[in-house]
Amino acid sequence: MSEPLERVDVAIVGGGMAGASLALMLAHFCPHLSVQLLEQRSLHNASASVQLPSFDTRATAIAAGSLQLFEQLGLWPALREYSAPIKRIQVSDRGHAFGAALSAGAQKQASFAGMLGAVIENAALGPILHNALNDTAVRLISPARVTSVQMDNEGANLRWTAVDGGSEHVMKCDLLVVADGVDSPLCKQLGMEIDTVKYQQRALVTTVALQRDHDGVAYERFTASGPMALLPLPRREGVHRAAVVWACAEEEADVVCALPEQQRLQRLQQQFGWRAGRFIRAGALQGYPLSLSLAREQWRRNLVLLGNCAHFLHPVAGQGFNLTLRDCYALAQSLVRSQVQSGAVGQLEWLAAYGENRRLDQQLTVGFSDRIPALFSSANPFQQVVRQLGMLGLTLVPPLRQQFAGQAAGFGL
Ligand SMILES: Cc1cc2nc3c(=O)[nH]c(=O)nc-3n(C[C@H](O)[C@H](O)[C@H](O)COP(=O)(O)OP(=O)(O)OC[C@H]3O[C@@H](n4cnc5c(N)ncnc54)[C@H](O)[C@@H]3O)c2cc1C
Repeated sequence: MSEPLERVDVAIVGGGMAGASLALMLAHFCPHLSVQLLEQRSLHNASASVQLPSFDTRATAIAAGSLQLFEQLGLWPALREYSAPIKRIQVSDRGHAFGAALSAGAQKQASFAGMLGAVIENAALGPILHNALNDTAVRLISPARVTSVQMDNEGANLRWTAVDGGSEHVMKCDLLVVADGVDSPLCKQLGMEIDTVKYQQRALVTTVALQRDHDGVAYERFTASGPMALLPLPRREGVHRAAVVWACAEEEADVVCALPEQQRLQRLQQQFGWRAGRFIRAGALQGYPLSLSLAREQWRRNLVLLGNCAHFLHPVAGQGFNLTLRDCYALAQSLVRSQVQSGAVGQLEWLAAYGENRRLDQQLTVGFSDRIPALFSSANPFQQVVRQLGMLGLTLVPPLRQQFAGQAAGFGL
């Protein structure tokens, strides 16, 4: 039997990076809205976050603009404690003896607190976001799986069940934000079509222990076997550490993952080279199949798609979460305006304004990330220039991204 209908302003489905970030922004910028966040996995203790897909063993490069947003939310002190600053980016390309370097000092307009960005392990990011949510008026409901959604003239109707076998609940909201990840079943249920292109590549992710300090340098190396990024991590128990993200062909990924530990370490070192010194240990490799998924519509009346279910990008460029944070900020600002003007957050007019606001940034970022697979293998001089600037540089330094986007759009460098 369903409980009586509960009515809220905003319901967010999915407590991963996207859903949790939006909930924090709504709590900060729109404190008068009633917001509920439903997550199918348990979030009842500090370590529970790591069981969510967002907060697994990966590390995330967060751009300076995103760090500024987190500062506004009051999260920078906690993030600083668990992240490593990116002070410099060093890019090297196969067949070129000298690479390019970008530093926070030379890119002042793109830096935050003297850094181009910061790298945080997702397992640390999850508890920071979820603990911060506990200090807000957002109601966190977990474990709660949303099983069905129906739209009517007054908003969205959700049915959810407590995953541990509890009763079914019904909720009505003015605005439903679907942030349930890639291949979203709720999108399918709502008839929101998603275009997907598979790249036949996998991102291999692990943590390596380094013999010497990384000094806040993020490296990017382009090779015939795909690009590899080495991202600085905070020291743990005196050990210098870095996160590896290597995008390679599916067949190569199978071979590397099957190697015994010592040979795997040697393969990673051979792939990356010696710029960051010797790798002394490597963790297990996690593989992420690479694709571009893009929702044909991201909003309708009373409905917005957010995060991986709206756009899932090639991860080597480290763009996905940074793009989602900009989406979250724009949506929160749109809801602030809708409240001032009309009081109804699900109105088409405000959601269309949000969509329009996000169109160009999303188009450029998605287009840029989609060109990545071709970029790795190309001998085209323009694409070599982009490789020299580096994916991370393009992610973390907006003027470079604008330059690239200008070129991609035919305006010339
Ligand atoms: C290898 C890799 C490296 C990356 N590195 C970077 C980087 O350096 N920088 C960057 O900006 N981005 C990076 N990204 C992108 C980033 O990881 C994504 O932007 C982020 O994971 C988006 O999370 P999400 O919340 O949209 O989805 P998810 O993490 O999938 O979260 C969805 C949540 O919804 C919950 N859920 C699902 N269905 C339901 C339901 N019916 N009811 C209730 N809850 C439900 C799930 O349990 C889950 O917690 C990387 C991605 C990959 C794959």
